[in-house]
Amino acid sequence: MRPFDYQRARTLSDVASAAQQGAAIIAGGTNLLDLMKLEVMTPERLVDITRLDLKAIEETDDGGLRVGALVTNSDLAADMRVRTRWPVLAKALLSGASGQLRNKATTGGNLLQRTRCYYFYDTAMPCNKREPGSGCAAIGGFNRIHAILGASEKCIATHPSDMAVAMLALGAKVEITDRAGNDRTVSLDKFHLLPGDTPEKETVLEPGDLITGVVLPAPVQGRQIYRKVRDRASYAFALVSIAAVVDVKDEKIARADLAFGGLAHKPWRDAALETALVGKPVSEAAFDAAADILLKDAKPQGSNDFKIPLARRVLISVLKEATR
Ligand code: SF4
Repeated sequence: MRPFDYQRARTLSDVASAAQQGAAIIAGGTNLLDLMKLEVMTPERLVDITRLDLKAIEETDDGGLRVGALVTNSDLAADMRVRTRWPVLAKALLSGASGQLRNKATTGGNLLQRTRCYYFYDTAMPCNKREPGSGCAAIGGFNRIHAILGASEKCIATHPSDMAVAMLALGAKVEITDRAGNDRTVSLDKFHLLPGDTPEKETVLEPGDLITGVVLPAPVQGRQIYRKVRDRASYAFALVSIAAVVDVKDEKIARADLAFGGLAHKPWRDAALETALVGKPVSEAAFDAAADILLKDAKPQGSNDFKIPLARRVLISVLKEATR
């Protein structure tokens, strides 16, 4: 690990001035410290934001919830409002990482965690995300955990978060403060980027931007499910995961808010799939048609070919459970 300077921020302006001098932001550090030890990321300066006042979970006037960026994954999963009104989020959080990691990992950091592509962490291998222009060892390599949707010729990595998948299905928004102190809000579906020609750019954040919170809208009518398929029952990233908020009225699907993990460079949501489901009678045929829409542009990479039938089966199974 290379030497670095460390500074503890007391205010947002401390963060802004440190960022202006090139400091990387650290909160729980559950991903960043690993990346620094492996010399995948080599910041010369860190600014620690854990003393900032961003740890509150507050109800909003319209029945939603504002989650401070420094709320830990454990605290958010244990919050009784989340457990009772947004249970898909509590379940997604508890399916991520391990108890120890969830005690340190924060809401903002969870959104910003880097891919778990093996080659990204191996500095002896080419990786366009770590070193733009060097190539992608996963294409033609071992790519069991990689993307089947939205990938590019530059990068086929997946986003590892469970929390973000549930938040996407719930229609969350991300609150951001820039280095000049200006606030803005970005829908979570626009926050993460597909790899395209610049896989090193993973979100809409600009240098000096700080996530200050995430806002969940008021819960909607419907059954909430989070299903995660992985190689181990614990402490493993999703091969395929689905967050679902599904409502049925008069035996027809009235709502189908669905987000997918393990399939793409970002938590994935497909408006065409949801539109196709809404208004349809609850039936295997409707579920099959939805899976066709989800997977129509899927591009497997060899070792991850299994994700296509797996995603189909998980989607149909989740829809059956949600509409029973
Ligand atoms: Fe790097 Fe992306 Fe290729 Fe993995 S898939 S080696 S992260 S460029």
